[in-house]
Amino acid sequence: MGVSLSVLTIGDELLNGEMADTNTAAIARILASRGFAVRDSLSVRDEMDGIVAALQGLADRRAVLIVTGGLGPTADDLTAEAAARAFARPLEENPAALEEIRAYFLRHNLTMHPRNDKQALLPAGVEILANKRGTAPGFHLETGHCSCFFLPGVPAEMTAMLEEAVLPRLERDYGEETPTRERVLKVFGLSEPKCEALLAAAGLPEGVQVAFGVDFPFVHVKLRTSGAAAALLLDRAEPLARRTLGDFVIAVGDASLPQTVARLLTEKGKTLALAESCTGGWIAKQLTDLPGASAFLERGAVTYANSAKHDWLKVPESVLETQGAVSAECARAMAKGIREAARVDLALSVTGIAGPDGGTPGKPVGTVFIGLASESGEEVKGYRFSGNRDTVRRLSACMALDRLRRHLEKA
Ligand code: ATP
Ligand code: MG
Repeated sequence: MGVSLSVLTIGDELLNGEMADTNTAAIARILASRGFAVRDSLSVRDEMDGIVAALQGLADRRAVLIVTGGLGPTADDLTAEAAARAFARPLEENPAALEEIRAYFLRHNLTMHPRNDKQALLPAGVEILANKRGTAPGFHLETGHCSCFFLPGVPAEMTAMLEEAVLPRLERDYGEETPTRERVLKVFGLSEPKCEALLAAAGLPEGVQVAFGVDFPFVHVKLRTSGAAAALLLDRAEPLARRTLGDFVIAVGDASLPQTVARLLTEKGKTLALAESCTGGWIAKQLTDLPGASAFLERGAVTYANSAKHDWLKVPESVLETQGAVSAECARAMAKGIREAARVDLALSVTGIAGPDGGTPGKPVGTVFIGLASESGEEVKGYRFSGNRDTVRRLSACMALDRLRRHLEKA
């Protein structure tokens, strides 16, 4: 079964509909990749008695408790005081925590507000977990039979501390109890049943199970196994699964489709420009989310009106008049136009009807043309995606990136 582990998230915003609790999912995902399973989770409001009761209840039942939120300097941040009450310890100024907070302000050339001192008021006898990205240090507390980790609520700070401070301890203390190991292959363009049928004939080593998940529009194929030789078994299963699923595999592990495309462009030293119509810059957004995108992305144009397609991309007026903006010819001219203007190796273009209006019998909502221009000319494909506006746009952006990935993998 592995170590019994709970997650407790704290914050009014999680329970009044203002904000979804993404911390629990992020923790579960990161822990799962290292063989630890979250048994259960709870969210509570910024309310002293509720937090105290939750801490006591969970710490009684579980060997490990991971708590996020409420470590900040404001009056609604109650976690440290609640922990002191729950585990009957005095609340006292922790010199190591104060040092951490002061160092943060010094590093960032910021003046420290006297209120920030409050973040150093912690239950007696805790161990400080450094927070490199924010002011609130986390802390670790042993109740006797539960190992409790208190992390800040801000997702980026929380995940960094989970990786840097919590996981090494969990692996040290419970590593040998880990029940399963998992490796995820991300697939685009094959359904779950199709993946399942293909993998049934892949000859995966005995003891490796296959599970599925969907992160639309991607299917996650999870290879799972347990025991001492788990890592070895997964190393053997992965290439077999990859060969079976072929070029539908867009990434392994934590990587995403944009990350795979960015890696391939960088490895092959190719530059890219984008001409987007119905995706409105979504492809550019996904690529520029990645640090270092300037190594390959030269420009992206959102050319929504016909006049923009003509002015910026030199799409001939005759094409716009006779074939229309949503046509293979237009996608071809868009890709060619931006590639020439930007003097890049590769260009992607997208033009389509995302809906809900604008469809015609010949070109219904979901009709999308994607062009890819390279030194060997332009290749255009037409698609008919189903779904609402958001789905059509998301699929268009993913398909465009996938076309580029396939091109780069072959090149
Ligand atoms: P801070 O020093 O920023 O106050 P904190 O540890 O007190 O840190 P909270 O005040 O609880 O953390 O949360 C800070 C912000 O982090 C929240 O406003 C929210 O945007 C985000 N956050 C907190 N908990 C979660 C959660 N479970 N899931 C997603 N986001 C969260
Ligand atoms: Mg706060």
